[in-house]
Parts: sequence; C-alpha cells; structure tokens
Amino acid sequence: MLQHTIKKDVSFAGVGLHSGKPVKMVLKPASVNSGIRFKRVDLGQDAFVPASMRRVSDTSLATTLSKNNVFVGTTEHLLAALYGLGIDNILVEVNSDELPIMDGSAAPFVQVLKKYRKEQRAKRLLMKITKEMTFRAGHTEISVKPYDGLRVTSKVEFDHPVIKSQSYTVNVERDSFAKEIASARTFGFLEQVEYLRANGKALGGSLENAVVIDKDGVVNAEGLRFADEFARHKILDLVGDLALLGCPLLGHVTAARGGHTQHVAFMRMLAENPDSWELVKRSEDGRESVMDKMRMATKAAGQMVLPFLLPPVTGMGTTPKAIC
Ligand SMILES: [Zn+2]
Repeated sequence: MLQHTIKKDVSFAGVGLHSGKPVKMVLKPASVNSGIRFKRVDLGQDAFVPASMRRVSDTSLATTLSKNNVFVGTTEHLLAALYGLGIDNILVEVNSDELPIMDGSAAPFVQVLKKYRKEQRAKRLLMKITKEMTFRAGHTEISVKPYDGLRVTSKVEFDHPVIKSQSYTVNVERDSFAKEIASARTFGFLEQVEYLRANGKALGGSLENAVVIDKDGVVNAEGLRFADEFARHKILDLVGDLALLGCPLLGHVTAARGGHTQHVAFMRMLAENPDSWELVKRSEDGRESVMDKMRMATKAAGQMVLPFLLPPVTGMGTTPKAIC
C-alpha cells in the first residue's frame, strides 16, 4: 500500500461555520512522510500546524488544532475526506482560523480531490490493532477490535422523533466512503443554534450547510439526504478525528454516543497501550512487515508524523478536554 498526495493545487472558498468569515483554502502536493499540515497564510511564513492528535486544543463544537498560538478550527470534515480518499501527504493553506464549512459535509472536498490523487513511491505505515480495547466515559463507549481495514460503526441516540436511535456501519474505503458517508451533513437543534448565535458561534451556519431540527422535525425544505444521515455524519466526524493519528488504522471501531472530545481521548488510550497494536507496512502482494516501534518513534520525533509514538505531554492524561 503506497502513500498518496495530489497532482496539483486545488482551491476551495466558503465561510467558517462558527466565525462566519469568508475563507480561502488551497491544498498543495506534499512529499512522502510529511503528513497533513495546515499553514495560516494570513499569519506569515512560519504559521504551521500539523494534523496531529497532540495539537488538539479545543473539541467543544468542532476539532481545533493549534501550535504556538496558530489556530485552525473545524478541521474534521476535510480530514475525513483526505482519510477516506487515502491521501497521506498534503499542505493545506488557509487564510482564516477556520476551514470553510462548504455544505456541512465532506462531499465537496471528495468530489474534487478524487480526480487529483497521486501515488507516491513510499509505503504507508499502518496501525494494526491486535487486541480489543474499549474506552468509556459517561454515556460514551468507543471500542476497537482487530479487522483487516478500517471499519466503523456509529450509534447515535437522541430523544427526538427524527433521530431516535440510529446505527450505521461502513468499511472506510474510497468508493464506500464517497458513496455512503461523504455527503452526510452536520446537524444541530434549532434552540441550540439560537443559543450558539447569541454566544458568537455558528455565525456562518445556515440551512445551506447544516441539517437543522426543531421540535416538529427537519427544518430544511429539501429534507434529509439519508434517513440515517445523523449516524453517517457521526462516522464522518470520527474518521476526520482518526486522521489525527497520522497513519491509517486497521481495526473495527464502534462508537456509541461519542463526540470530538471522546474521539481524542480514545486515540490517547491507543497511544498509551502500544501492546494492543503494531506498526506494519504492506507490499502490493499483501506481504506484511512489522516495524520496530522504538525505531519509528525516534524517526517520528524528527518528522512530526505518527504523533501516537511520541512520549505523552506532561499532564495530558485522558481528561476529556484535550490540550496537548
Ligand atoms: Zn461534523
């Protein structure tokens, strides 16, 4: 399995969901083993933030990454698109503190980027789960067990007649991700949206980029894209957060009632239990070689990829609010 980038620069324009500000974003090809990096072009030449679980600074409404006071918010839908398409190395230039929300899903990114995938001459490193593990916090449970590929099950429960309880399972491969998950939109309850607006959030939110639900049902005139769009969008968010591991996961992840905060805590649990996974590379004929974790950790320290191999930041723990 080889690494991928894109063939040429690709641009997107839109608004930030929370800031309401116009945003321009340009995705650029990047070299092997460089991973996904963000650059705030409005802040000068050195304003980089790697897409790393160690750089999560806020998970309250979306996943925000930061380094040295350089912030990039609402990263999860673009990261899900990149993970779903198998794009490993890319530079994301953005001129604001939040990525554009587009239509509230990952479909606009997937539709364009799928045309420009480019194979690179280096094998992908894979995090292969070898033992079952479960993370629990409050009502949330996220478990992972060995599986040959990334398979994700999401279970959502809301005390609302439109959602009730929903569950969806998908194998995160290019075609199935694009068809079944990418177009599922973010969603919110009308009273929650009004509260967020009053507090200076969701300023860019509209019926053009979110499913809004009131007590009677879906407010959007066009209705839902899938009856279980909510469970599918939860998979989209989880896949976007899993991209912060820095390499693809081989395992079946089942998440019940989770959100960004719990996704990050789950990834920390993986990082803290290295006897439950191994790092492998695969050739085209399926032959697998197991890599030495210690050696890879030394390399990772220099490259800022494979964040789960690096020693934990002091005081990081598994507290729900992630600041690393
Ligand atoms: Zn989302």
